[in-house]
Amino acid sequence: MAQQQKQPYYQQSSKELLTKFSTTDAGLSKQEAQQRLTQNGPNSLVANKRKNVLQRFIDQFKDFMIIVLLVAALVAGFSGEIADAVIIMLVVILNAVFGVFQEMQAEAAIDSLKEMSAPKANVLRGGNVVTINSEDIVTGDIVLLEAGDVIPADLRLIEAQQLRLEESALTGESVPVEKSVKALNAGTDEKVSLGDQINMAFMNSNVTNGRGVGLVVATGMQTEVGRIAGMLNQADETKTPLQENLNHLGKVLTWIILGLSVLIFVLGLLNRQESVLNMLLTAISLAVAAIPEGLPAIVTITLALGTKRMAKRHAIVRKLPAVETLGSTDIIASDKTGTLTQNKMTVERIFENNELTDAKTSQVTLDDKVVRIMTLANDTKINADGELLGDPTETALVQFGLDHQLDVADLIKQLPRAGEVPFDSERKLMTTIHQLDDNRYLIATKGAPDQLLPRTTHYQLNDKMPEMDAKERETILATNTKLAKQALRVLGMAYKIVPTLPAEITTETVEQDLTFAGLIGMIDPERPEVANAVAEAKGAGIRSLMITGDHRDTAEAIALRLGILQPDEHDAVITGSELDALSDAEFAKKVPDYVVYARVAPEHKVRIVKAWQKRGKVVAMTGDGVNDAPALKTADIGVGMGITGTEVSKNASDMVLADDNFSTIVVAVEEGRKVFANIQKAVQYLLSANLGEVLTLFMMTILGWQILAPVQILWINLVTDTFPAIALGLEPMERDIMKHKPRGRDSNFLSGGVTSSIFYQGLLEGGITLLVYWLAINYPVHAAANLAHADALTMAFATLGMIQLFHAFNVKSIHGTIFHRGIFANRSFNWAILASAVLLAATIVMPGFNKLFHVTHLDWFQWGIVLGASLSIIVIVEIVKFFQRRFHKA
Ligand code: ATP
Repeated sequence: MAQQQKQPYYQQSSKELLTKFSTTDAGLSKQEAQQRLTQNGPNSLVANKRKNVLQRFIDQFKDFMIIVLLVAALVAGFSGEIADAVIIMLVVILNAVFGVFQEMQAEAAIDSLKEMSAPKANVLRGGNVVTINSEDIVTGDIVLLEAGDVIPADLRLIEAQQLRLEESALTGESVPVEKSVKALNAGTDEKVSLGDQINMAFMNSNVTNGRGVGLVVATGMQTEVGRIAGMLNQADETKTPLQENLNHLGKVLTWIILGLSVLIFVLGLLNRQESVLNMLLTAISLAVAAIPEGLPAIVTITLALGTKRMAKRHAIVRKLPAVETLGSTDIIASDKTGTLTQNKMTVERIFENNELTDAKTSQVTLDDKVVRIMTLANDTKINADGELLGDPTETALVQFGLDHQLDVADLIKQLPRAGEVPFDSERKLMTTIHQLDDNRYLIATKGAPDQLLPRTTHYQLNDKMPEMDAKERETILATNTKLAKQALRVLGMAYKIVPTLPAEITTETVEQDLTFAGLIGMIDPERPEVANAVAEAKGAGIRSLMITGDHRDTAEAIALRLGILQPDEHDAVITGSELDALSDAEFAKKVPDYVVYARVAPEHKVRIVKAWQKRGKVVAMTGDGVNDAPALKTADIGVGMGITGTEVSKNASDMVLADDNFSTIVVAVEEGRKVFANIQKAVQYLLSANLGEVLTLFMMTILGWQILAPVQILWINLVTDTFPAIALGLEPMERDIMKHKPRGRDSNFLSGGVTSSIFYQGLLEGGITLLVYWLAINYPVHAAANLAHADALTMAFATLGMIQLFHAFNVKSIHGTIFHRGIFANRSFNWAILASAVLLAATIVMPGFNKLFHVTHLDWFQWGIVLGASLSIIVIVEIVKFFQRRFHKA
């Protein structure tokens, strides 16, 4: 569709373009849209081609150590050790298969996340507004735009009401551009730059203000963004801090292990009469086994599995690092409306003619000024089924009219909108203009009473309009406070009638010299589960803050009900203007004193985040509006709203709540803590095992003992590394996970005693293995020396493998005992351990395998020693943990 047209779109009138794209301003029919979609493909920027399974498999062999191992195995094969060569190849291939499997699993999980956070757009199809995935947009579609939307494709604008777009993604210009609909002059040949095409809206720009309608002229790769190939596929794979730390650690460990392997190789040659080839194979096998190359994949899988569980619990993670940051959250700063409350507003009280009445029983008519204003200064749409669509604050006002049997639809039809100043959360007002029968204009304004009152000069008292005086002002404010203290959201209504429209419709020209008409108070009930979630967060050392554009007293009343605020904490409520009076330095000092922020504007949110961050705290901040994007980006975890959030705010966030619910944040924190703990477990398990392996080989070489054969080392690595480590990532939540304080911004997976545990437990694993070998040599079952040696080596091999499997139970809890929790609760873990143990034992028990793995057949007594020694690691570690807990308590 986007052929090189002679005349650029911005020079053509919207009428011409509608014809050209065979559409109307009511949009395409459903069938036509479907047909175009099949014909032209989805509206998406084509992502990087995925590697196929074979390519992935081959990639697994690009590791230098693997190549050396394979070459050495080949050489060994040619010099007669065919069995060794074959087994080594086999193990390496199996390892590669597991690697591919891990990689693909991690990717699949991340893909499903992407799908869940797919962007949406509102389009007209056959005259009806429908919300569709942006991917399904086709040329000729009519897209409706409002503040907070992300432009889903390239559009030629056909309607623009104070529409301003931020186009920095394309033009680099971050100041929003005011858009219009007029065709640009076709007079010159010169190409108009994208930034100057003011009747066009380009894919991925943000609507910062106003409303508009656009005709889709290009989709997917045909759009301006699509043409800039360099912009694609970036920022796709962000590494989490933890993954980066691990990569770094992995590199350090690789060098240490390589050094030790070389040392073992040299010592082996000097110390004993091993062949060079054999010693080389041993050293390389050790390097391959002990280098924790699987760790990054295991971390990714654990993170990805965590995100899957979170998604099931309505927390959709958009950026993987959020999972681990969540676990360290100190502060949850949450919007009130919709997140702490249900965003189901109902008008409860109405104040007009200086009388406060119950909304249900009040006698109102369509002639009441209050009713007229709240119905007209309102963006609610009534669809064919009579459903009200729009912001709950506004639908409640229309609903109020309907509940009183007033024909609000007729009123709206009779007085169509001639102009408007849209609502914004800074001004907290909204105004619409309507032409009256006598050709004069009605200006209807509604909004926060404290913002509205200063703009009024008169007030309505039945048919009279006396001048506003101090006494009346006092009465109105007192009523406002009274309603707010009952946790009601209060809106004021005001109006004026003017003979002509000002040349420019702005807040300065129309929202002045108004006549105050009345107040209404609406209830927005709290979400029932929030109070518990606040309490749970508190128990976990996490502070919950309320941030709202609402009135101080409303905010305070609701915060008290939810337990965010305590009855004696009246001073912990601060308003936006009080906050403005504090310098950044003062605020950073005082920030722990404040719990509820009322009448704040989005820019205050950034200050709140920064003040807490200055104190070293990890902050999760919610946001839904277009102006919340900076705060969402600044916060450690920006939390977007799945239902009410704008596309811009969702794009800026790290996690989106599918149910807009505060308690979902607490659930996500819990999952985040669990994921972090499970990664710590896997790290502790793998590194202590590797240390045990290196220690065993090193000591065997130095002491001049028999050394484990390369295939034995590789086999142990294969069966003990992969399955149990992944299964540890699936460990259930430890019971007290939400009972301790956040782990702190600077902590990492080695903090909290993990490093020392790795060391002593690795030494134990190696030490016990060597002890078994020593016992078997000195107290042999078979008298013949060669048999004794072969038995001892087999027992050392079996012990080194089994002890790791037993130790996997220990790491299920880093400091707690494993006995008072369900040791066998994690089914995948049980199967993993069982499978690993069977694979390990098979090499010794299965006839025919003995030769391949250079092992002897052990009798019951010898097996008893192996299992007893391996089991002892549980006993020893339990005793150490017992004293650690004692010590910690003391
Ligand atoms: P949150 O608690 O999620 O931060 P909020 O709903 O409290 O959001 P805003 O939506 O910014 O905050 O509303 C702030 C104030 O603006 C409200 O207390 C109300 O007085 C006024 N207001 C809200 N919605 C409208 C509207 N549609 N028209 C006019 N005034 C409004």
